[in-house]
Amino acid sequence: MRLLHGRPLAERLNARSRERSDALRARDIQPALAAISVGIDPAANTYLQRLVRGGKAIGIAIRDVSLRSDTNEPAVIAELDRASRDPKIHGVLLLTPLPGKLDEGHLVDHIAAEKDVEGVNPYNVGLLLDGRPRFVPSTAEAIVELLKFHEIRLGGVDVVVVGRSTVVGRPAAALLLNEDATVTVAHRRTADVAAVTRRAAVVIVAVGQSGFLTGEMISHGATVIDAGINVTPAGVAGDVDLDSVSGVAEALSPVPGGVGTLTTALLLRNVLTAAEAQTAGG
Ligand code: NAP
Repeated sequence: MRLLHGRPLAERLNARSRERSDALRARDIQPALAAISVGIDPAANTYLQRLVRGGKAIGIAIRDVSLRSDTNEPAVIAELDRASRDPKIHGVLLLTPLPGKLDEGHLVDHIAAEKDVEGVNPYNVGLLLDGRPRFVPSTAEAIVELLKFHEIRLGGVDVVVVGRSTVVGRPAAALLLNEDATVTVAHRRTADVAAVTRRAAVVIVAVGQSGFLTGEMISHGATVIDAGINVTPAGVAGDVDLDSVSGVAEALSPVPGGVGTLTTALLLRNVLTAAEAQTAGG
């Protein structure tokens, strides 16, 4: 079974981003991302640390806006509005998960669409569904970029996405449709997930349960993209049962080392795209 590693693509993306960042800074424009967090969440904090490291290597400033966990909705909105209006900030990211009392769906409306580098504002969601993606959630984009990098055919191919969250499953399905795949989305209410996944040449799994996808659930020679990140007693694991899937799949993205290696590189690339668009002609 072939492993679909993400690191070679991440290195290629970051090298190109460094060139774009250099070109902006040569015009006295410091590309910058505001990362707004509410309270302390370990997963969000790890992601922020990765962004800070990645930003430093590429030449993108990360403004860390950490709000207390008891910050109310109007105060979070005020920060999102402030960053959205600040001409020195080109990208705005609201780190998740948020404390339960905050409505993420409502807050993302306050990220200016042209600075919404994680593609969560309804305007960018609409562009994606309209087949003209601008900013797309980085995990969904990572899934499709990984498939394309490894030259997995998508046009006319049966692809199943297991999971329908707004940050992974749904945008991944929309991107795959834009690549002319025949896309099915499975979820908890799907009557027989295995019957659906067995029909697919490419299976994307983004469920959040280690060992979820087993060898009996896929067809011989299938390609499997594992977007899951689960902390288990044995370490970080994806959603795939490696023992059974490795004898059946033709190709599999590893965890860690697959989808997750690309998300930071893609988000930072979006910051540069945003900075270039906002400063064009300046
Ligand atoms: P989520 O919001 O919890 O969504 C999970 C999805 O899986 C839901 O749509 C759910 O269906 C579906 N699901 C759960 N159990 C199922 C079952 N038994 N059968 C069929 N479908 C089932 O999670 P998420 O944010 O999309 O994340 C999914 C995974 O990706 C997690 O492991 C997360 O850590 C990982 N992730 C990775 C990255 C990365 O950078 N690689 C980024 C974000 C997330 P319903 O909608 O019916 O409930």
